[in-house]
Amino acid sequence: MSKFIFVTGGVVSSLGKGIAAAAIGKLLEARGLQTTIIKCDPYLNVDPGTMNPFQHGEVYVTDDGAETDLDLGHYERFTNGYFSKDSNITTGKIYYNVITKERRGDYLGKTVQIIPHITDEIKKGIKKVARDRGVDVTIVEIGGTVGDIESLPFLEAIRQLRWELGEGYGLNIHVTLLPYIKCAGEHKTKPTQHSVGRLREIGIAPDILLCRTEKHVTKEQRDKISLFCNVEREAVIEAADVKHIYEVPLAFKKEGLDNLILKKLNVHKEDKELKDWKIKVVNRLKNPLREVKICVVGKYIALPDAYKSIYEALVHGGIANNTKVNIIKVDSADLEKGKYEKSLKEAHGILVPGGFGDRGIEGKIKAVQYARENKIPYFGICLGMQIATIEFARNVCKLKGANSTEFDKASKNPIISLLEEQKNVKNLGASMRLGAYPCRLSKKSLSFKAYKKENISERHRHRYEFNNKYKKSFEKKGLIFSGANAAQGLVEIVELKNHPWFVACQFHPEFKSKPDKAHPLFKAFVEAAIASK
Ligand code: GLN
Repeated sequence: MSKFIFVTGGVVSSLGKGIAAAAIGKLLEARGLQTTIIKCDPYLNVDPGTMNPFQHGEVYVTDDGAETDLDLGHYERFTNGYFSKDSNITTGKIYYNVITKERRGDYLGKTVQIIPHITDEIKKGIKKVARDRGVDVTIVEIGGTVGDIESLPFLEAIRQLRWELGEGYGLNIHVTLLPYIKCAGEHKTKPTQHSVGRLREIGIAPDILLCRTEKHVTKEQRDKISLFCNVEREAVIEAADVKHIYEVPLAFKKEGLDNLILKKLNVHKEDKELKDWKIKVVNRLKNPLREVKICVVGKYIALPDAYKSIYEALVHGGIANNTKVNIIKVDSADLEKGKYEKSLKEAHGILVPGGFGDRGIEGKIKAVQYARENKIPYFGICLGMQIATIEFARNVCKLKGANSTEFDKASKNPIISLLEEQKNVKNLGASMRLGAYPCRLSKKSLSFKAYKKENISERHRHRYEFNNKYKKSFEKKGLIFSGANAAQGLVEIVELKNHPWFVACQFHPEFKSKPDKAHPLFKAFVEAAIASK
């Protein structure tokens, strides 16, 4: 039976709970334990699929086509666990299930209530993942901050679960903030005391405190936190800021967090250093041989979380090439107004990521044109691939009004359009081509050179597709169709003849990149950028 670690957050949001949960997963894996991680999100959306990236950040997609919280991206990048639809439990999903059951009459006339019906449904979801994966430890991260009304049912559910599990089977880790007051020259522990007090009111007593801080915590402060929060002294763990998120597992290890967790969960495993991670990831990050500049042209540039996996995958591509990737973020809408052209000129590579809606589209087209004409390595992802074909249609094939029907319904040359079967879809949520699909690469292509194999599988999240009507004429003009979904006859990758590196794919390779195993296309793109310097 799986043991459970429940991770909650206190004082403020954005403490990096997701990274903490992922790093804990990594530490336990290194000790030979199988883990999985679940994210509980206390919002009423069934999933983040329909949420604006400006509000919620990136939507992370799993192999089985779930649109999930971006923390699942951290989990996949740090660990080897398998994540799927059931790895992300939202209030919306829970209520949806409970109300569906109520309408069906499953509750046999009972009054349906938050406790026990909502909390039972949450517990059921958590236990199901643990059981299905057959792991040693299930880590459950509760989104939001303790004290929020929204997360109460989740906290009550994990309180009950811990009680039911009994001694040695459950553990509560509370991630909290120790603000440093400069003029007083010290850390303040009061917000942490209040946050722990709040947890205790609802029956949860944290076993371990992960104290997020800018500066090192003194022995006296640890003693104080320990005494006032009822947490053993050795379980007050300093989680100081680090330069790269991939240093977090090493920092936790240094604090003895893995030993502490194993002791509290009564698990005996040989101690192991995170040697590979240190050599292959952290040391390379810290000592790059060179630097390159990659320009990312998108419409959600202002929010770092909106392209989380893209930025991380670029870092991974850099690690694989012993190179520091400096990302220049360019707002595509600004490019339309002629601003930021200087950034394009500085770039050793240009990347246009995915996106929805027409804002900034013409700016992205400009970026592709610049990369194509000036032979700058170009990497197009999803919308970035669609844009590449539209640019090619307009400026190489001279097709008037070439566009995607997403932006111009009446386009004379709909290079990108909906498939017939998609035209009647009414629901916006989860109605796209989602999740992993196979793709076959042609042997004489940059893609094949990168992947070193013919058959690949990549994750998708889009509605529109390349219109095969234009395939032949584009080929004649020098566009290479190097990857296809044979079963559905869909174009998956295009490349350019007579260009050092121009690869654009309909899928999202960034979701499958890991720090110690860069995605082949990101690795090859950074390599091409280095060569173009
Ligand atoms: N908006 C485009 C589509 O739906 C591209 C989506 C994306 O980039 N993820 O097809």
